[in-house]
Amino acid sequence: MEKRVIVIVMLFGVITLIGCSSNSKSDPYSSTNPPGTSAGHYLRADEFDRLIVEIDYVTGNKPSAANIEVMQSFLEYALAKPKGIEIILDDEIDSLTDFYGRNEMAIAENRHRDMFTEGKTLATYVLYMNGKVAASSIGGSTFYNTSMAVFPEFLTTIADTVSAYTADELISYVTVHEFGHKLGLVDIGSPMQEPHAFRNARGHCSDSTCVMWPTITEASFERYKSDTTFGLGSLCLQDLLENAKPLN
Ligand SMILES: [Zn+2]
Ligand SMILES: [Zn+2]
Repeated sequence: MEKRVIVIVMLFGVITLIGCSSNSKSDPYSSTNPPGTSAGHYLRADEFDRLIVEIDYVTGNKPSAANIEVMQSFLEYALAKPKGIEIILDDEIDSLTDFYGRNEMAIAENRHRDMFTEGKTLATYVLYMNGKVAASSIGGSTFYNTSMAVFPEFLTTIADTVSAYTADELISYVTVHEFGHKLGLVDIGSPMQEPHAFRNARGHCSDSTCVMWPTITEASFERYKSDTTFGLGSLCLQDLLENAKPLN
């Protein structure tokens, strides 16, 4: 029997500006658009042929070498970036709070993000944070088109109570799931080819064995571990493939 272990994402669709955006001055490519709106820029090579991923982490939440390896493999699998994908494990940063909302994540990004999209290089920003999202049981959050947060400290407490997976595996799973939102899943930037949107959780898949299902199930975790598709079900894959087709 499947048990829902954890709600893994909060997807923030409506963005309010947090004071003055320091990003906009140095960053003509807007990095404060809603999640999913840059999907095509990730999936295709025509506008951006290279990707850099900047990772900052709060003390004690540094992603493991295995986490970074999974991220690299997933991005190489899903993205067309012929000039390469470079992941930069950047700064250890201070904790802002124990309970993060969208504003706190955006503040952390404003304070610490160094790398922005320029020329043909798309830049993306990943925070590995202490504490948790204010609402309970959320292990990751995609809050803008090129930024997201994962919560290792919280995910570790979950993994400690569930024998089916390790903290490392859970952190990688959530990282892949959050990147799925950046790639426009489900129907937030990569249009659905067939209906499979989860009714009550925007941006998620209605297939409970898919990594884009809103919670982690035994079936979705099993698929994530055993498939070569990083747990993406066929309907999500189809959306990505369609959006990955070169324009013109
Ligand atoms: Zn999600
Ligand atoms: Zn799916």
